Amino acid sequence: MKIAMVGSGYVGLVSGACFADFGHDVVCIDKDQSKIDRLHDGIMPIYEPGLDALVDANVKAGRLSFTTDLAEGIKGASAIFIAVGTPSRRGDGHADLSFVYAVAREVGESLSGDAVVVTKSTVPVGTGDEVERIIAESGCTHRVSVVSNPEFLREGAAIGDFKRPDRIVIGAEDDFGKEVMREVYRPLFLNEAPTLFTGRRSSELIKYAANAFLATKITFINEMADLCEKVGANVQDVSRGIGMDNRIGPKFLHAGPGYGGSCFPKDTLALLKTAEDYDSPVRIVEAVAKVNESRKRAMGRKVIEALGGIDAARGKKAALLGLTFKPNTDDMRDSPAIAVAQALTDAGVNVAAYDPEGMELAKPLMPKVVMCDDPYTAIEGADAVAIVTEWDAFRALDLDRVKELANAPVIVDLRNIYRPDDMRTKGFTYTSIGRP
Ligand code: NAD
Repeated sequence: MKIAMVGSGYVGLVSGACFADFGHDVVCIDKDQSKIDRLHDGIMPIYEPGLDALVDANVKAGRLSFTTDLAEGIKGASAIFIAVGTPSRRGDGHADLSFVYAVAREVGESLSGDAVVVTKSTVPVGTGDEVERIIAESGCTHRVSVVSNPEFLREGAAIGDFKRPDRIVIGAEDDFGKEVMREVYRPLFLNEAPTLFTGRRSSELIKYAANAFLATKITFINEMADLCEKVGANVQDVSRGIGMDNRIGPKFLHAGPGYGGSCFPKDTLALLKTAEDYDSPVRIVEAVAKVNESRKRAMGRKVIEALGGIDAARGKKAALLGLTFKPNTDDMRDSPAIAVAQALTDAGVNVAAYDPEGMELAKPLMPKVVMCDDPYTAIEGADAVAIVTEWDAFRALDLDRVKELANAPVIVDLRNIYRPDDMRTKGFTYTSIGRP
C-alpha cells in the first residue's frame, strides 16, 4: 500500500518511517527544502533515539523516500496523512490551522485518484469537516474520505510508542475510510494493538481530552508537592500511596517544574478555546493551564532563593543542567527551562547551561545564557546548580567534582533525581520538589 505523509517533523517522520518498516511504500513530504535535503543525505532533522537507523534501513529497502513535491508524492497513495504543525495562534491561543488547511487545498488540487485523507495533526473538533469542505471546493472529482487518526507518541520514546501503542483511534464517517485505515494499520492489528473506531468528532476530541487529563494529573501532583513542602510530607511517598490505587495508577505523578513541550501547553489552551466557542466551559483545564504557567517562573524563584534571595542573587552564577522539556529529545518548545532562565537573568543572575541535545534550539530562546560543552564547565564557579531536565547524564554526576568546581555546594533538583539524605551527607545544601 502506498502512503503519503505530508509534514516530516517529529510526528510525520517517525510515523512515515514506522509505516515503511511495516512494509508499506511511504513518501514523506515537507515544504522545508533543507529538511528534505538533509534527509536525502541521511541526516535526521530531529533527535529521536533509533530514528536514524530506522530511516536508513527503510530507505535502503526502497520503502521510504522524501520529496518537497506534494503532487508527485501523493500520486497513487491510498492514504494521505496530514502531519503538519498546529501551534497556538498568536494572540488568542486557538490552534493555528493554516498549515492543515493549506495542505488540504493542495491535496484537493493535486489528487489523481481516490484516496483517504487522514488528519494526524492534533486538530480541534470540526476540523475534519472543514478539510472535507476545502477538498470538495478545490474541484477534486475523486472519491475522498476524510478521517481523523490522532497520534499519541511521546518524543524520546516515539518509535516504541508508534509500534506498540496503547491504542489506535480512528474517527471515520464511511466504510471507504474505515477499510483503508484497517489496511494501513493491519500490521498492528496482527500485534493485537487495541483499536477504537469512532466518529470523526469524537476522535478529534479524544486527543485533546487525553492531553488535558494528563496535564491535570501532573499539575495535581505538583500542587500536592507544594503542600508537602509546607506540611513536612514527602510527595514521592504521596505519589506512591495514591498511585497504588488501580483507579488512579502510578504514571504521570512525578512532581517537577511544570509540564512543557510541543503538546500539553498548546493543546490545553486550544481545548479551552473550543470549550469557549461552544459555551461549555472546562474550568478544571482552565485552572490547570494557569497553575502550570505560573509554576514555571516560580521554579526560577526557587533557584533565586537558593542563591540567597533576590538581593543576594544579583551578579551570582547559576548553572542549569538540562534545557529540553524532557530527556531524549532536542525539543525546546514551551520548556520550563525557558521561564527558569528568564526569571534568573531578569534577577541579574549570570546563567550557564548544558543540555546533551537541546542547546542549538535553546540558544535563540535564551540569548543571555552561556551554553557550555559539558555539565562541569557550566558548574565551574556556580553559586547554585539547578537540575532542570532529568537526562541520564545528570543522574550520576561526579559529586566530588561538582563540589570542587562550584563556588558553593548548592543544588536545586527540580526533578527529584537525587536523595536528600545522600546529598546532605555529601555536604550539599540541597533542595528539591515536595520533599523534606
Ligand atoms: P513539527 O513542527 O516537528 O513538523 C511539522 C512539519 O510540517 C514541518 O517540518 C513543516 O515544515 C511541515 N509543513 C508545514 N506546512 C507544510 C506544507 N504545507 N506542506 C508540507 N509540509 C509542511 O510538528 P510535530 O511536532 O511533528 O507535530 C505535528 C502535529 O502532530 C501537531 O499537530 C502536533 O500537535 C501533533 N502531535 C505532536 C506530537 C509530538 O510529540 N511532537 C505528538 C502527538 C501529536
